[in-house]
Amino acid sequence: MPDYYRHTKIIATLGPATESKEMLSSLITAGVDILRLNMAHATHKWVADAMWFIREVSNEVGRHVAVMMDVKGPEIRTGAVEEPIDLKAGDLIEFYIDGAEPTGDIPAVSVNYEGLPGELLIASTVLVDSGLIQLKVLDKDDERIRLEVLTPGTLTSRRHINLPGIEVHLPAITEKDKNDLKAGVEAGIDFVALSFVRQADDVRVLREFLDGLGSKARIIAKIEDQAGVRNMKEIVKAADGIMVARGDLGIEIDYHKLPLVQTKLIRASQKEGKPVIVATHMLESMISSPMPTRAEVSDVSHAVREQADAVMLSGETTTGQYPLESVNVFKNIIQSIEPTIDRALNKTIKLKEPKAKMLRSAAVLANDLDDSGIVVFTRSGFLAYVLGALRPHGIPIYAFTDIESNFRQLLLPWGVEPFLIEFSEDPEETIQNALGYLKRKNWVKAGSWLVVITNALADEKIIDTLQLRQVEE
Ligand code: PEP
Repeated sequence: MPDYYRHTKIIATLGPATESKEMLSSLITAGVDILRLNMAHATHKWVADAMWFIREVSNEVGRHVAVMMDVKGPEIRTGAVEEPIDLKAGDLIEFYIDGAEPTGDIPAVSVNYEGLPGELLIASTVLVDSGLIQLKVLDKDDERIRLEVLTPGTLTSRRHINLPGIEVHLPAITEKDKNDLKAGVEAGIDFVALSFVRQADDVRVLREFLDGLGSKARIIAKIEDQAGVRNMKEIVKAADGIMVARGDLGIEIDYHKLPLVQTKLIRASQKEGKPVIVATHMLESMISSPMPTRAEVSDVSHAVREQADAVMLSGETTTGQYPLESVNVFKNIIQSIEPTIDRALNKTIKLKEPKAKMLRSAAVLANDLDDSGIVVFTRSGFLAYVLGALRPHGIPIYAFTDIESNFRQLLLPWGVEPFLIEFSEDPEETIQNALGYLKRKNWVKAGSWLVVITNALADEKIIDTLQLRQVEE
C-alpha cells in the first residue's frame, strides 16, 4: 500500500512558502489531500493561476488534491490609521462608522460595519487584532462608540474585531465573497469553506448562490463564534462538513472551553455522518522551527484520536519556513496514533436507507477479514461518505467514481481513497477493472479478500449487492 495512505486527511493552506513548483510537488507527493485558498489574502488572478498550477503539478506527480476556497464571510474591521496608535490600560478610544465624523477629543478609528453601535451594549467587550487589545464599551450614539482600553497594545490599520457573545446581524456572504466565489467556481474549486457561520440559514444562502452559479462545490461551515456553537446541530445538518476554526473560536469563547467545544463539534458531525476538520495553531511553532512543541504533538494526536476527518495547516504552509516538515510531522503523528485507536465502528450515526445500513455490515465483514478493504462504486459520493463516517479502522475504503469533481470531493472523508475510472455498462467488467487497478498499483495483494458494494443485474432488475471477492493472481 502506498505510504501516503492514512485514515485522517491533511489540508494545507497555499501561500508564498508553498507556491513554487518544487514545494507544491513535494507537498502533494508527501500526502496533502486538500489545498486551501484563503481569500483573506488573495486576488482572483491568483486563484485562477493557483488552480491551474495545482492541477498541472498534480498531473505531473500522478497524485490529485482537492481545492477548498475559504471565503471571509462578514468581517468587522477597523479602518486605516495614519500612525500606529499606542493604547495603554485606562486610555480612551473612539470607533466611528465609515462616513461619520469622529468627535475629535480622543484618538479615533473608523469601523466598516454601520450596525456596530446598535449591536453593542454598554460594558460589552470588544476584542481587536485577534484578541490582543481588549476594550470595554463606555458610551455610544448611532454613529460612534467610546471605549476604554483594558489590555494595552498598538493599534495598526485594518485590524479584525471580535465581539464575544454578541449576535451580529451581518449577511452570511458579502459582495466580496460573491465575487470571490464566482472566480473560484470558474476556476473549478471543489469545496467552499464559509467563515463565521452563525445559523443553518447562512449555509442555505451560500448553497443557493452556488446553485445559481451551477456549482456542486461542497460547503464546509466554519464554526468560529458563540452563535455557531449554539446552533451546531442545525448547521451540521445543513452543511456538507464542519471546520473547527479554532483561531477565531478561541477568541469568541472562553479559551479554556475550546477543547470541550472541539469535542462537541466532532461528535455532532460524526452523528450526522458529516466530515469535520480541526484547524489552526496545530503546529504553529513550526512556522519558524523545524520541530513541533510537545504540546502541539499532543494536540494533533488528540484530534486524530477524536477521529476528526482532517487536520489543517495554515500559517505553517503559507508563510512558514518549514512547510514540508509540517506535513511530515502531521503524517508521522497520524501514522503512529491511528493504529492505537479502538476499532469500534461509529455507533452514533443514524443510517436511514437500507443501502446505507448495508454499509455497516460491509464494515463489520471487512473487519473480520485479514488485510481487507472495502470497494465501493459511487456516482454521488454518498456511499463513500457514509462508509468513512462509520470509521472502519484499519480498512481502506477504495471509492471508484467516473465523475471527476466527485472524485476530488472524496479526498476529504476519513479513510476514503478515491479513484477515477470509466464505468462499463457491465457491472462485472467495472469490478474487474477496479480490482485489477488496485492490484497493479500495489494497493492490494493477490489472495486478499475484499468487500465490494455495487449494483448487479438480477432478472433485468438492478439490485444493490454486498459481495466478497478475492484478488486474483
Ligand atoms: C480560524 O479562525 O481558525 C480559521 C481557520 O479562519 P481564518 O484562517 O480565516 O482566520
